[in-house]
Amino acid sequence: MESTNKQTVMVTGASGYVAGRLIENLLGKGHTVHATVRNPHDRNAVGHLLALNDGVTSRLKLFAADLLKEGSFDEAMKGCDLVFHTASPFFNKVKDPQRDLVDPAVKGTENVLSSANRTPSVKRVVLTSSVAAIIGDAADCLGYPGGIATEEQWNTTSSLKHQPYSYSKTQAERKAWEMAGAQSQWELVVINPSFVIGPGLKTHSNAESFNIIRQMANGMLRFGAPDFNIGVVDVRDLAEAHYRAGFMPEANGRHIISARESSLLELATLLRNKFGRRYPFPKRTLPNGVIWLMAPLAGLSRRMVSRNMGQPWKADNSKSIRSLGMSYRPVEESITEMFAQMVEAKLV
Ligand code: NAP
Repeated sequence: MESTNKQTVMVTGASGYVAGRLIENLLGKGHTVHATVRNPHDRNAVGHLLALNDGVTSRLKLFAADLLKEGSFDEAMKGCDLVFHTASPFFNKVKDPQRDLVDPAVKGTENVLSSANRTPSVKRVVLTSSVAAIIGDAADCLGYPGGIATEEQWNTTSSLKHQPYSYSKTQAERKAWEMAGAQSQWELVVINPSFVIGPGLKTHSNAESFNIIRQMANGMLRFGAPDFNIGVVDVRDLAEAHYRAGFMPEANGRHIISARESSLLELATLLRNKFGRRYPFPKRTLPNGVIWLMAPLAGLSRRMVSRNMGQPWKADNSKSIRSLGMSYRPVEESITEMFAQMVEAKLV
């Protein structure tokens, strides 16, 4: 499937942080984009997207669709060759994990792929899964060959009670592979990003990525950051990875999309070097024992603490470089440009 600059593509969850940069990328390369949002009349959700229309052509078309409403993606999918399914709730704290995370993730995926089954023009679906469908807790890496996660592994440690967001992503990706295997009209290509940073098309004040970075600057971590290792990737590189997964004929299977391993402390240190005089970024990690003791007060489970704090997090991004030709921006650039955007928008 090559980009002929004529293909019409669909993007679900268009109001989101990741989708904004993806839509910008697709429009920039000449595609017509059918973008779904829950409420296309909400200026806050779509204003930054409409600003991408150049005034002469309007290759961005908005459609209303809800993950939980059967058939609601049919209209937007009509005439599309390719579907990018990014919509899924990303929150670490929820009241009811089944209702708030798993149902929209899994039923939503089922719903979008059922629409693809009914839309003969669709030849490929690119699903935004997560590295969380591969690594539930950092400690999982210790059980993988060489201590490094690859696309071969699946998260088997998350559940409704433990890391429910990761569980929702795992279940949704499993559902997608199951449905892909049951038909032959479209092929599935999966993107498994690590923690996404970098400036959005706008500051997405409700997106979890922005919430996490905000917590580094608002004094919450003044006495130290949890010793938490994570992989990180720039949202603009992630958009390009989606694009390549959509249009490179040979793209197939899962793809870990991650620039490199980092940690909360390293991200905070990079920010402190640039913005440190004005914000109380953490200067050290807190002892894991202290976090373990205080975990219930902070709404964290002790199992989560012991399986993540101080544990090495390692994922192999070589397939993305080899198969999609990805190169990644320096993390320093991504995190400082993101924070500068947050400062400008008075989010911190
Ligand atoms: P985001 O800004 O919160 O975007 C999530 C999108 O999903 C929003 O557009 C949201 O629409 C939509 N959505 C949620 N529930 C919905 C429902 N019931 N019906 C229709 N749409 C619904 O988060 P993001 O960071 O861009 O995440 C986008 C995708 O990337 C998700 O699949 C996420 O799991 C994945 N991902 C993100 C990261 C990361 O670090 N950010 C890492 C790995 C994978 P509303 O605006 O209407 O709520």
